Amino acid sequence: MVRTLSHYVGGRHVDGASDRFSDVFDPCTGRVQARVPLAGREEVLAAIKDAAAAQEAWAATNPQRRARILHRFVDLVNEHLDELAELLSSEHGKTFADAQGDIQRGIEVVEVCTGAPHLLKGEFSDSAGAGIDVHSLRQPLGVVAGITPFNFPAMIPLWKAGPAIAAGNAFILKPSERDPSVPLRLAELFTEAGLPAGVFNVVNGDKEAVDALLEDERVRAIGFVGSTPIAQSIYASAAAHGKRAQCFGGAKNHMVIMPDADLDMAADALIGAGYGSAGERCMAVSVAVPVGRATAESLVDRLRERIAKLRVGASMDPDSDFGPVVAASAKERIEDYIAAGVAEGATLVVDGRGHTVEGYPDGFWVGPTLFDHVTSDMRIYREEIFGPVLSVVRAADYEEALRLPSEHRYGNGVAIFTRDGDAARDFASRVDVGMVGINVPIPVPIAYYTFGGWKASGFGDLNQHGADAFRFYTKTKTVTTRWPSGVREGADFAMPEGS
Ligand code: NAD
Repeated sequence: MVRTLSHYVGGRHVDGASDRFSDVFDPCTGRVQARVPLAGREEVLAAIKDAAAAQEAWAATNPQRRARILHRFVDLVNEHLDELAELLSSEHGKTFADAQGDIQRGIEVVEVCTGAPHLLKGEFSDSAGAGIDVHSLRQPLGVVAGITPFNFPAMIPLWKAGPAIAAGNAFILKPSERDPSVPLRLAELFTEAGLPAGVFNVVNGDKEAVDALLEDERVRAIGFVGSTPIAQSIYASAAAHGKRAQCFGGAKNHMVIMPDADLDMAADALIGAGYGSAGERCMAVSVAVPVGRATAESLVDRLRERIAKLRVGASMDPDSDFGPVVAASAKERIEDYIAAGVAEGATLVVDGRGHTVEGYPDGFWVGPTLFDHVTSDMRIYREEIFGPVLSVVRAADYEEALRLPSEHRYGNGVAIFTRDGDAARDFASRVDVGMVGINVPIPVPIAYYTFGGWKASGFGDLNQHGADAFRFYTKTKTVTTRWPSGVREGADFAMPEGS
C-alpha cells in the first residue's frame, strides 16, 4: 500500500495542499512505498507564519529550559532508535547498522547542544575606558531554515536543527524528497519531548518550496547541504535576499597511501570508506593515491581480494556490507560514469555494473567498482560520482600525492596513511582541504568540533555543528556601558521621618 505523507507544521501533521507529489521508493525492491507532498508557496508562507509566532516565546525561554527539552528529545530518539533506523533504511537503502550510525551521529550533535547555556555565553571587558564596561551577547536570529540531502536523513537535519533550536530560533526543515519519513518522525518526537508547537517544522517540497524560503524576509538564515551546483545557487540567492547562508556541496575525497603505511590497514580503511553506504557519503573516499609503483601494486592486489568478499544485499540483511543506491536515476548515473571511465582509458579492475541480488530483481543495485591507472584529466576523477566506485590514481612521489587533493576543485575531506609523523604533519599543514585524517579513513570530526569542506565543497563562512553552529544561528550584540554616579555618592539611607 502506498502511504501519503504530510508536512509537520505548528506541532501537527498537515496534509499537502498543492496537489503535487513525489514518489518515495524502497530502493531494495524498486517499488514506490509512499508519496510525499511538494509544498506550494502558500504552504511555506503559512509555516513561516507559525514559526515566527512561536519563536518569540521560545527565545524568551531560558537556555537551560530549552536544553532540558533537547535532553528529553535525545532520550526519546534513543528509545526509538531501531524503529527510526528501519524506517531510514527502507527509504534510503543503507544497511540497518549504518542507519543506526546516521541517527547516532545526529544525536551526538543534539547532546552537545544541551550545553547551550554555556555555548551562548557572551564576552565581558571590565573598564574598557574610564568607568566603561563592554559586553557582548548572542541573540537568536528568528526563523531559520535547513535544506538537507537524501544521504543522511537523520544526522544532517539534526546538525542544523539542534543548534538552531538550542539558540532560541524556530526552525523550518525542507528535507530531501527521497527519504522524508525520518524527519517527520523526528518532528513528532520533538513535540513529545515538550518542544512548543511551531519551533520545529518540516515542509516537504522541491525548488518551489526552497525558493519561497529564500525569498521570504522573515527567514533569516539558510543552512544547506547537497550537491555543489545547488549549494552555489542557494548561496547566491540567499545573499541576494540579505540572508546569512552556509551551503555545503559535493566532494571528491582522496586517501594518500605512503610506501611506509600499514597496507592492510589502509586497504581495510579504503574498503569501508569507499564502499560503505554504497559510496553515498560526502566523506566517502573515492580516490586512492598510492605513492610509488610497489605501493600501488600491493594496494590494488589487496583491494581486489577484499572486494571479492564484499556482500551487497538487502538493507535489513545483517550480512550485507552495503545496500542499494537511492534511486534508479542514481544507478544509471553511476553506471554511465563507469562506462565513461572505460572509454577514457582507465583500467576497470572490478566492474559493479549488472549486479543482482536474489529475491530483489528490481532493486537499485550497483556492485563495488575499482578503477586503476586513473589520471587527473578523466571525468571519473574530476567529478563526484556518489556511488561505490573507487579510483586509484598512482603518484610518483609525496609532492605529487599532496598536489592531487590540493588542486582538486572539491576540498571536503582527505586522509593520509603513513607511519612517518613528519610526513603526516607536513601533509596536514599544507593540504588545501577542510578536514584531514591521519591513519583514519573518514576524517569526520566529532560533534564538538566543526564540520565543513573548502573550495567547491562549501560556500559561506562558519561550519556546521560545534561552536561555529551557535555563531551561525545567533547574532552578536555589543553593549557599551557607563553609569553616572548615583546612590553611592550622596543618597540618603535614613528612613524618611513621617510628618
Ligand atoms: P541535491 O543537491 O540533489 O539535494 C539537496 C537538497 O536540495 C534537497 O533537499 C533537494 O530537494 C534540494 N534541491 C534539489 N534541487 C534543487 C533546486 N534546483 N533548487 C532548490 N533546492 C533543490 O543533493 P542530494 O542528491 O540530496 O545529496 C547528495 C549530495 O549532497 C552529494 O553531492 C553530497 O556530496 C552532498 N553532501 C554534502 C555534505 C557536506 O557536508 N558537504 C554532506 C552530505 C551530502
